[in-house]
Amino acid sequence: EESVRLRSQHLFPSTHGFAYYKQPLMIHQGHMQWMWDSTGKRYLDLFGGIVTVSVGHCHPKVVAAAEAQMRKLWHTTVIYRYPTLDQYVEKLTKKMPGDLKVVYMVNSGSEANDLAMLLARLHTGCYDIIGLRSGYHGTSPNLMGLTALSTWHYNLPSGFGIHQTVNPDPYRGVWGGKHCRDSPCQSNRSCDCASANSCTASDQYVDQLEDVLRFCCPKGRVGGMFVESIQGVGGTIQFPRTFLQRAFKTIRQHGGVCISDEVQTGFGRTGEHFWGFEGHGVVPDIVTMAKGIGNGFPMAAVVTTPEIAKNLSAATHFNTFGGNPVACAVGSAVLDVIEEDKCQARSADVGTYFIQELAKLRDSYDIVGDVRGKGLMIGMEMVHDKASRKPLAASDMLDIWETTKELGLLVGKGGYYGNVFRIKPPMCISRADVDYSIHVFRIAIDKFLR
Ligand code: PMP
Repeated sequence: EESVRLRSQHLFPSTHGFAYYKQPLMIHQGHMQWMWDSTGKRYLDLFGGIVTVSVGHCHPKVVAAAEAQMRKLWHTTVIYRYPTLDQYVEKLTKKMPGDLKVVYMVNSGSEANDLAMLLARLHTGCYDIIGLRSGYHGTSPNLMGLTALSTWHYNLPSGFGIHQTVNPDPYRGVWGGKHCRDSPCQSNRSCDCASANSCTASDQYVDQLEDVLRFCCPKGRVGGMFVESIQGVGGTIQFPRTFLQRAFKTIRQHGGVCISDEVQTGFGRTGEHFWGFEGHGVVPDIVTMAKGIGNGFPMAAVVTTPEIAKNLSAATHFNTFGGNPVACAVGSAVLDVIEEDKCQARSADVGTYFIQELAKLRDSYDIVGDVRGKGLMIGMEMVHDKASRKPLAASDMLDIWETTKELGLLVGKGGYYGNVFRIKPPMCISRADVDYSIHVFRIAIDKFLR
C-alpha cells in the first residue's frame, strides 16, 4: 500500500514499528466512540488514541470551541496576556484539592514530567528521584529512567539519579500475586491478592521503598517520587490498599515531594473521582496531566503549590507553545463537556459494568488471568493458563487482536509481556457498546482456542 511505502521511507522506524495488526489500519474519520477506515468500515474505539480521546472523537462542542478560537487568535506566547489562558487555569484549578492552585502549561506528558522532576530537584535540593518498576512517565532522556521497563530502554545510560523500587502489583508482584496464590503467602497475611482492594502486601512494598532510600540516596534524602495512581502502560496495575498513602508519607519523611502522574487517570476516567490520586486518599505536591486534558489536542500541564512553583523564578523558564490560546479554548471546552455530558458518572457506571462483564470472561476462560481497573481504565491480562500465570505469547495476542479488529473493535495492549488488553475508551461509550465488545471478545477467544 502507498501509505506503508511512504511511511517506511520518510518516518523514523520507531513510528512504524508498532505492529498492532497484521494488516495496517488506515483511519480516515472519527466521531465520538467510533472511527472509520479508508473502506468506510466502522470500529468501536476502546483505546481512544492511547487514552487520549476523553470525551469523544471530534466532539462537536470541542470542535466549535477550537474553530471559534482559531478565527480569533492562534498564538501569542505568554509574553502577552490573553483571556483564554487566564480563564482556563482558573477553571482547571477549581478541580484541584488543597494548595494545588498554580499551573504551568506545556504540550505533552513528557514535558510535564520533565518539569515536575526539575521542580522536585529545585525545591528539595536533592537530585535523587524514585520511580516504580512498571511506571511510564515519558521518553525524554531525563525520563527514560523513570519509564522503567527495559522494553523502553536503549543501550545507553538513562536517568541519572533515578532509582526504582519494586512494583506494588497484586497480580504479578513479588509479594501478593503469584506467590500469594500459588505458594505460601510471603506477607504472612491471608489475602486474596487478585484484587488490589484486598491485597495487604503494602508493608513489604513500603519496606522496599525504605530500603531504596537508605541504600541509594545520599543521607537517605530524596527529591521526590513519581507514581501513576493506576499504572497505564505497565498494564493497568492497581496498587495494594494503602500503598500510596504510606509511600507518600515515607517520601515526605525523607524530605521529598510526591508527584502524581495523572496523564492517563485524570479527567474523570476512573469514574469515582476526577483525579486518580483521590481514590487513594492522598494529596500530591505536584500533579502532571496530558492526554485526556485536550481530547487529542496537544496540550499538557503541571499543577503544584505556590511554594513549589516559586522555585522556577530563579532563572528564566519558557515554553513557546505551552498555554497556546487554541489549546486553552479546547481544554476549557473539554472541562465543560465532562460536566455537561456527565462523563465521570458515565465512566463509573459503564466502567463498572464493563469490568463486571469482563470478569465473566475471566471466569469462563482459563486464558483470561485477571480483570482489573476502575471506571474506564481497564485491563484484561491474558495468560497461558490460570495456574501458571505464564503470559500469553505475543503472537497469540496478535491472533486474538486480529479477530477483534475484523469484527470492528479496537483495543490497546500493555504490560511488560504485552499480554494485557487495555480498554480505555472515550468516556461517551454506552452499556450497549460494552455488550458488543464482550460479544466480540468471546468470538475472538473462541476462535483462538479452536
Ligand atoms: N505519563 C503517562 C502515565 C503516560 O501514559 C504517558 C504516555 N503514554 C506519558 C506520561 C508521556 O506522555 P507523552 O507521550 O505525551 O509525552
